[in-house]
Amino acid sequence: MSARKMRVMPAVEVKGSRAAVLTQVRGTPGPMFVTEGEQPDAESLLCGSCGKALVENVRRGTLVDVFLQCGDCGSVNDVNP
Ligand SMILES: [Zn+2]
Repeated sequence: MSARKMRVMPAVEVKGSRAAVLTQVRGTPGPMFVTEGEQPDAESLLCGSCGKALVENVRRGTLVDVFLQCGDCGSVNDVNP
């Protein structure tokens, strides 16, 4: 499974975008999304700022056009490559 660091979004770009921001409750351990079992073409997505895995073992392309706000550092990440 591959792991990819997401791009951290500047606050002004988040404000100007219509993409939804999914926020992880501060201090939550572990990822926001996990798929159990073997997935074809699975990837993990890491916070671009602190490296925390916010998405684990999820098939590539399942998550699109959303921002994920990291529960560890508060950075807002773009899931799109
Ligand atoms: Zn982070």
